[in-house]
Formats: sequence, C-alpha cells, structure tokens
Amino acid sequence: MNFDDSPEEAVWRAECREFLDAHATRRTEAIDWSQSIWARNRSEAELEAHRQKAAAWQTLKYEHGWAGLTWPEAFGGRGLSSHFNAIFAEVEADYDVPMGVYAQSIGMAGPTIIAHGTDAQKARYLAPMLTGQETWCQLFSEPGAGSDLAGLRTSGLVDGDELVVNGQKVWTSNAVEAAHGMLLVRTNTDVPKHRGITYVLLDMTLPGIDIRPLKQINGRAEFNEVFLDDVRIPLDAVVGDLDAGWGPILTTLANERQGIGIGMRGGTADLIEVARHFGLSNDRTVRQELARLMEMEETIRFLSYRVRTAASRGEAPGPESSVIKLAASRRLALQGSLVMRLMGAAATLADEDTYANGYWQSYAFLGQWAARIGGGTDQVQRNIVGENVLGLPQEPRPDKGIPFRDIPTA
Ligand SMILES: Cc1cc2nc3c(=O)[nH]c(=O)nc-3n(C[C@H](O)[C@H](O)[C@H](O)COP(=O)(O)OP(=O)(O)OC[C@H]3O[C@@H](n4cnc5c(N)ncnc54)[C@H](O)[C@@H]3O)c2cc1C
Repeated sequence: MNFDDSPEEAVWRAECREFLDAHATRRTEAIDWSQSIWARNRSEAELEAHRQKAAAWQTLKYEHGWAGLTWPEAFGGRGLSSHFNAIFAEVEADYDVPMGVYAQSIGMAGPTIIAHGTDAQKARYLAPMLTGQETWCQLFSEPGAGSDLAGLRTSGLVDGDELVVNGQKVWTSNAVEAAHGMLLVRTNTDVPKHRGITYVLLDMTLPGIDIRPLKQINGRAEFNEVFLDDVRIPLDAVVGDLDAGWGPILTTLANERQGIGIGMRGGTADLIEVARHFGLSNDRTVRQELARLMEMEETIRFLSYRVRTAASRGEAPGPESSVIKLAASRRLALQGSLVMRLMGAAATLADEDTYANGYWQSYAFLGQWAARIGGGTDQVQRNIVGENVLGLPQEPRPDKGIPFRDIPTA
C-alpha cells in the first residue's frame, strides 16, 4: 500500500487541476448546504436547473477530452484506469460543478455496451452519453427481485424480430428523465435462474411503458415504478445473446460498485460546523463522537487506497470493496444519528426555514439508507465478507441448479 501519488499520478493530479482551474470555479468557502439539491423542498425548476448545469458541464468536459476517462480512446475516452478516474473525482470535488449525474450512463451503461454491445449499438449510444445529451436508467430491480436479482420475472417473448416485454420494475432512479434504460427480462424459464435472463437496451419512449414516480420520505421522487405492458423491442437491442444476460449484468454491477461514493462531498468537518452552530462543539461526548466519525472516515480513506493500489497494479477489486461499503454504512449511521442529536428539537422541523434548509435531516439522516441499501445492502455485503474473507459456510441456495419455472414463488 502506498499513500503518496506516484510520479505519474502526481503529474495527472496537476493536469486535472490545471483543466479545472481553467474551466470551473474552485470553492474558497465551506459548501452552503442550504443550496444543495438534497435540501428539503427543492422545486422542480431548481432540479431542472441542476440537470441543465450538469449537462453543460458534461458537454464542456467532452469538448476538452475529459469525459469518459476510463473509456477506450476509440469511443471518445482516455483509456485510463479507474484509479486515475478516482484522482480526477477527488480534485473535481473541490470545484463548484455538479458531480455524479452521469453515473448510470457513463459509469454503467457505457462500459457494458463497450464490453458486450454490437458495433451498431456502440455507434448509436456511446457518443450521446459522453456529451451528456442522453441519460440512462437501470431497470433491474423488481418487487420480488432486489438482492436476489436473478429471481426477476419480467418476461420477454420473441415474436418475429421483436421481443414482447411484460412486467414491472421498481426503484428505477431517474427514469422520468432517461432516454434509455438497461432492461433485464426473463426469456427462458426452462433453465436455472441465472441462465434465462436477457439484457436489453430500452428506448424509454416506446408505447406500453408507464413510469410512475415514487415520493420518498425526504420529499423527493427520484425513484419510479416502471410498468411494461406489451412493449415491443427490436431484437437488435439485445446486448450479447438471448438468455445470456448474466455476463453483461456482472459488468454493469461491477462498474456500479466502482462508482459508489464518487462525487460524494462533505464529511466530519461539516458536522463540526453543525456542532458549533448549535453551541455543542465543546460538549465532551459530542467531541468524542466527532472523533469517532473522523476515525471512521480516515479508515475508509485508507481502505480505499488499498483498492486503488490494487487497481493501479491491474488487479480486480476483491471482497475489500464489501468491507469498504460496510464501513461507509456504519459511518453514515453514526453521522445520521449524531446530526439529529446536534440539532435537537430543530431536527424535527422540515421546512425551508430550518437550519441549512433541512439538508441535514434530508441527506444525512433520511438519506443514509440510500447508500446502505443501493448497490448491495449491508446484510448482503456481510454475506460476501463472511463467505469470501472469513471462510464461513455458504448461504443455503435451495434454488441452485433447478429450472426457473420450478422455483416456488411466495
Ligand atoms: C438509492 C437507491 C437507488 C436505487 N436505484 C436503483 C435503480 O436505479 N435501478 C434498480 O434496478 N434498482 C435500484 N435500487 C434498488 C436496489 O438495487 C435494491 O433496493 C437492492 O438491491 C435491495 O433489494 P430490495 O430493495 O428488493 O430488498 P430485498 O432484497 O427484498 O431485501 C430486504 C431485506 O432482506 C435482506 N436480505 C435479502 N437477501 C438477504 C440474504 N441473502 N441474506 C441476508 N439478508 C438478506 C436485505 O439486506 C434487506 O434488509 C436502488 C436502491 C436505492 C436504495
């Protein structure tokens, strides 16, 4: 493990800063969280303005050769490894620019199409992703298939040169704005569950698609239910082969895991400000908890250096990614409860006249479960660590090896 930049990384970091200094405004003061899109009661106009700003920043990056850093040069990227991308994100976080908006497009759909798509799919979809013109959503989870993704039941039947799709997806982030979706359908029930799934690129404007936003506890509605009713999709939208979607799925999920945390801002220093604001920065137990939070933050930082060092040597990330996700979950839990305690009775208010426009209740407390569930829940990460690090017996898998149609349903 090495904490310092290698000479090559130091040159890259300086190059990133030079580009950002030339095109973006570096923050000189602490972030004003009351203006964050995570604050309470953001209007649709404000959210749309944020999307426009993100699209303009993405286009600018594309025009200067800074979009899709990990994509091959042949597709408009820079062909860099993920730890160079992580260094760019670290530097970018110091500037007043939107981050994380294209995680599903450039971070997940793009790499999957590059690895498994046809030449025609690459020609059609990759460039509009990089420029920020078209965004994507991920239509994987269903009411009965989340952690057990391979249990999905949305059906796809081949009819001539089309796939006719029926079923329901849920928790589809940003489906309303998305031009396309990464859709998983079951096309074969005669084989074990992982072997009968097909991965499809879905045009979100096709007839038969009904998108219904789900209002969340924090007042926002990024999540959606997506109903698919006799949606006819041309077979040339299939990624790889029919029934062979599991390979592309693993590519999407591996890229999703790599992207988690990129673009996240804020940390213990912000909570110290909250403690000061509420006159608790000299309280001994509060100071102890802040120190614990800082200790966890540093532990996570050093664990992620371990992953980055492995990546810089060309090694694939192992179960340490699950350890990091679990550690980050524990930090989010501590941060969420600490911030509520610091705010005291003020934490029960939820309107724009509350401290920081309700940002801390919305993002740090109510929002903690977004990161603790999305990308694999805490319990699922524990299973991975248990089996792959501690050598505990495997979870019982009663449906292993049996045809999907014979798996009992609830
Ligand atoms: C912020 C966010 C964004 C998301 N965006 C998308 C998206 O864009 N597209 C999409 O398709 N999905 C999305 N999801 C859905 C996400 O992938 C699922 O919520 C996740 O996979 C868990 O599935 P589930 O909600 O069905 O819970 P379940 O899998 O039903 O789990 C319920 C509970 O049982 C536990 N559990 C399940 N299996 C096991 C096991 N084997 N051992 C021990 N405990 C277990 C879980 O940990 C959990 O506590 C998003 C979720 C979040 C939170």
